Amino acid sequence: MLVLYLGALIFLSLTECILCNEVIDASRPYVGFPPFTGNTKDPLYHFSDCAVHESCLHSHPSCQQVLSILDAYDASLPSRGGVCAVDGELITDPHNFLSFGLLTSDPQEELYRFNFLTFNKMNISGWADRDEFVRIATDFLDAGKWVGTSGFNALAYMILQVRKIY
Ligand SMILES: [Zn+2]
Repeated sequence: MLVLYLGALIFLSLTECILCNEVIDASRPYVGFPPFTGNTKDPLYHFSDCAVHESCLHSHPSCQQVLSILDAYDASLPSRGGVCAVDGELITDPHNFLSFGLLTSDPQEELYRFNFLTFNKMNISGWADRDEFVRIATDFLDAGKWVGTSGFNALAYMILQVRKIY
């Protein structure tokens, strides 16, 4: 049986809980996580696009952090509309929607304050923190702190988007 729950693809009786390594089946409540980070080096990457038993999650020290990230992730999806960080207006054209998503789950990183920002691309050139974001994100990349999946580097893509003239 195949269950799509919160975005992660879970094959019941085949998918393992990443915390206890026992299979996920209908006998115990479980949670599936969407692919909320594309950075394999993020401290919470092992939760991304995976499944866990509810009880395993609740006894894990990162439980609250993971749940709050999921809330913010969910609220920043293009389908939720969203407000532009530059002018505070609702982004009405989905083609102009740019969402950073989770850049880093480590609050000690400078990049952390840019997490989950959403933009109307037409306003990016007027974003006061644009140059600073590009500098901080580029430093993060140069330090080897972001390693993407399948050759795709989402942070490098975000930098390109922010530097582009629309
Ligand atoms: Zn488990």
